[in-house]
Order: sequence, then structure tokens, then C-alpha cells
Amino acid sequence: MRLILLGPPGAGKGTQAQRLVQRYGIIQLSTGEMLRAAVAAQTPVGLKAKDIMASGGLVPDEIVIAIISDRLDQPDMARGFILDGFPRTVPQAIALDDLLKKKHIRLDAVIELRVNESALLQRVESRVAEMRARGEEVRIDDTPEVLAKRLASYRSLTEPLIHYYSERRKLLTVDGMMTIEHVTREINRILAAIGAGEAKAANKTPGKALRKAVPVRRPARGSKTTAKSPSKTGGKGTGTSRKAAKVSGKAGKTTFRGPKRSPGKAAASTKVSAAGRARKAVKKVTKKRAKA
Ligand code: AMP
Repeated sequence: MRLILLGPPGAGKGTQAQRLVQRYGIIQLSTGEMLRAAVAAQTPVGLKAKDIMASGGLVPDEIVIAIISDRLDQPDMARGFILDGFPRTVPQAIALDDLLKKKHIRLDAVIELRVNESALLQRVESRVAEMRARGEEVRIDDTPEVLAKRLASYRSLTEPLIHYYSERRKLLTVDGMMTIEHVTREINRILAAIGAGEAKAANKTPGKALRKAVPVRRPARGSKTTAKSPSKTGGKGTGTSRKAAKVSGKAGKTTFRGPKRSPGKAAASTKVSAAGRARKAVKKVTKKRAKA
């Protein structure tokens, strides 16, 4: 499975990325972590990035693109990955598309964690307090002032990616204001609905149980939970995304659109079962809502 996690600083991308790593056995690629390691090791990249990061700015595109390109070439990437904190600008997203195309890697989905900005400040404050209580070193850019700058750069430079990936039918938006548990469940649910991946063997049973147990939640006001499938990207990928469905939580209505199939071709049985599963899930949700 190949995913991107999108969301402002403090939205919980790191936490959810770790959970996805656990569940699906994929690799987390956090450009923030890689850059912090480079700063600590005082590499040439680290020396360039240090002050920019401390002030809450963005490191130049070419630096992060080069880091990601190198990392994608490594053999462990075959297990799948989750990009956390990259791309952060439209040029980075375009460069990533090019890289993936060249490397014949197919992106399954982009998960956006949508959060309320005023809550972010509180989250950062409590995270800092917890880290201090544990005697851990607090990140230099985890102060309210720097957070304000990081939020501003998110709004102007990163938020356009929501439109970018939505147009490419890759975007899944999740209400990031729910509890960590609920956000995880919602992510797992929509990934299952688009047939993007199976939990790794050890976690399979609890994963299924969770999916069954979790009701579909109406997203917080002003936010929505949608899953847009990359149905038209076509071609010769692994096919997971092409199984995808569209599940929309708009105005309390959940709709499903099955995969686009070329009429002449018999659908592979995997496609049918993924679409069938998603349809069943949506029916269930619709019934529950009608009852409610
Ligand atoms: P993060 O841990 O993702 O919040 O990133 C910490 C800092 O690293 C950011 O505030 C940026 O200065 C820098 N950074 C991380 N990822 C990127 C990226 N994709 N593009 C530019 N700068 C980045």
C-alpha cells in the first residue's frame, strides 16, 4: 500500500502513520524526521535546513525531493510506504508524481486529516507539556509562535494539495477532530472500502472486528469524510486503486460508485469482491442512518 498523509502540523499525522505502519507493515517516510536526523548529524542538508526548520519555514523543494527520491530507491520500499509530511507544496507533488511514474510505483490514496486550527494550538501545548513531563527534549519548532508560522505556510503552500489530489481522485478526507482511536478506525474503514490494502497477517482479525464494530460517524461541522477513488488513473498498476469505490459522507448521505470497468473486459474476481465489500458496507451504513 502506498499512501500520503496530509494535514497541518499537530493534526496527528505522525501518530496515525505509526498505526498504519503497525497494521499494514508498510514503511513510514517522514521528511520532518529525516531532516531532523540530518540536522542532528550536521550533514550538508542538515546545515541548510536547520535555521529554516527552527523558524517554521519550509526547506527548499529540491532538498526534500532529493531525500525522498533516494529513499524510494531502497529495497524496503517494496513493502509499501506512507509519506508523512511530504509533499508539502504543489511542485513537490508534481515531482513526486514524476518520480513515482519513473519508478513504476502507484499511489493508492492521499489521506487528509482535517482539523480545527484553534484545537491545534491546544494539542501542541499539551504535547509539549507531556514531553517535558517525561523529561524528553522538546522540538525547537513546537512553540505557539513557530506553530503559527507553520500553520500559515500550511494554508498557503500545502492546502492547495487538497485540490490537487481531489482532482486526481486520490483524496480521502477524514475528520481529524475525533479521538485518535476513532480517526484510526475511520482511516482503516475507508481504506478497506476502497480496497487499498489488507492488514498484515498478525493484525488481520482484530482489524476486521474493528471495522465491523465501528459506526460511520458524521464528520464535525465544516468538515467531511470522503473517499475518492483513483478510478481513472488506469494503466498497469497493481490494481488496488482501480478497485476503488467512492464513498461520500456529504450531508449525511453515503454513496457508492463502483469501479469503472471497460465493458469488453471481464472484471477480475478481486475487483468484484472489493467493490462488493464496499457496496455492502455502504448499504449497512445507509440502513443504520435511516434507522437513526
Ligand atoms: P514535520 O515534522 O513534518 O512537522 O516537519 C518539521 C519541519 O521540517 C517543517 O516545519 C519544515 O521546516 C521541514 N519539512 C518537513 N517536511 C518538509 C517538506 N516536505 N518540505 C519542506 N520542508 C519540510
